[in-house]
Amino acid sequence: DTLEKVTFMNKLDMKNHNRLLDSLNRVKENFLIKNPNSFERWQKAKEVMPGGNTRTVLHYEPFPLAVDRGVGTHLYSLDNDCYLDFLGEYSAGLYGHSNSKILNAIKGAVDSGLVLGAPNKWEGLLAEELCSRFNSIDRVRFTNSGTEANLMAIGAARAFTGRDKVMVFDGSYHGGVLYFKDNSSPVNAPYNIIKTGYNEVARTVELIKENAADLAAVLVEPMLGSGGCIPASIEFLKSIRNATHESGVCLIFDEVMTSRSSGGGLQELLQINPDITTLGKYLGGGASFGAFGGRSDIMSLWDPTAPDALAHAGTFNNNTISMSAGFIGLTEVFTKTVARDLFNKGENFKATLNELCKQHDVNLQVTGVGSILGLHVRDGAILHPPKYSNFELNKLKLIHLEMSLKGFLFAQRGYMTLNIEMEDTHLEQFVDAFEDVIVSYKDIFSSRV
Ligand code: PMP
Repeated sequence: DTLEKVTFMNKLDMKNHNRLLDSLNRVKENFLIKNPNSFERWQKAKEVMPGGNTRTVLHYEPFPLAVDRGVGTHLYSLDNDCYLDFLGEYSAGLYGHSNSKILNAIKGAVDSGLVLGAPNKWEGLLAEELCSRFNSIDRVRFTNSGTEANLMAIGAARAFTGRDKVMVFDGSYHGGVLYFKDNSSPVNAPYNIIKTGYNEVARTVELIKENAADLAAVLVEPMLGSGGCIPASIEFLKSIRNATHESGVCLIFDEVMTSRSSGGGLQELLQINPDITTLGKYLGGGASFGAFGGRSDIMSLWDPTAPDALAHAGTFNNNTISMSAGFIGLTEVFTKTVARDLFNKGENFKATLNELCKQHDVNLQVTGVGSILGLHVRDGAILHPPKYSNFELNKLKLIHLEMSLKGFLFAQRGYMTLNIEMEDTHLEQFVDAFEDVIVSYKDIFSSRV
């Protein structure tokens, strides 16, 4: 009886596997038919850039759709098709593509002349705004990217504590040289790293205590962003806060993605103050940006008027485009109320999509915090980044390409964000298209292998 059941299941699985591969091939063909200019661009770019790519995350199968321009919350492809932008430049596109206040700030900076090589009026204003918004930030410094912000934060922690090691979590991403998914990348900065499981409370606390004498910092995303939009449990973060506090270890919150969760970041909602916070993405108004800030005793290591000050360089750290767009963005556009509304909009959107998955009994779910969302091809609680099989990864590819053919862009791995230009009708259109896709392939998406 059991054997018969197993054989039947295997046959069903095989059928689903084959159907998925056939569907994926057909969708890839349609994608090529719809995007010949993107394909041609990719072919040409491959002659001069490895894989035609200069930013790994933007490559996907069968080839990446290339964008010509953006207007509001829409993107236009090189083939001149219009898409709703649910990628939102991996959260840097919070303001959409053409917010007039942001554009005017950037135009103003351009009109005042570029590369000034001196302090300007904007950097202090933006710093003031960040220090007033983030409870844990007394002093802040700017960088050009979130990666650099994390490197400087680690440097600050190591210099401040005189210790060497850095604790990070499986599946976390803190920048191109701080990549901790699967096996650590050979490109990573050569820190003395201790890696443990995300949301694993007891083991993490134990490791902090065991390594206290050598441990400079615990670097953690309060929600794993590129690791699949998996929120940390409050217990996990509070335990880390207590253990680091007791052991004199610097707690660094990487809020490069999550800072949009409220006026004062996800840390405000969680009511946890890290020692150092790193920021990036939308906070430069859509121009290149990074920042690290925190306790004044730690940050004062970088005070150039002090005798043994550490050096923090960066030609473009205070460039007027990022500084002015960042300042105008926070003070005139992304106010605390707008931040709260966007968070709620994201939470409602997530709930609607999850309701839909339940209603159609498919093995899918959406995770995330506020306006940053991750589509997963598994139901049930997800506390760590799932190790997906090829079959599961192909399901994600199928949803992604089908949604692209219907005019919705997000990352193939299932990552999405909302931006402040999005209206309810945009979200409704997405929900309808998503329902269409899951209903069309119900067998595949309800399968559990
Ligand atoms: N930290 C997190 C949590 C991120 O998501 C990212 C970028 N995706 C970074 C750091 C790196 O930022 P950047 O790409 O600006 O270097």
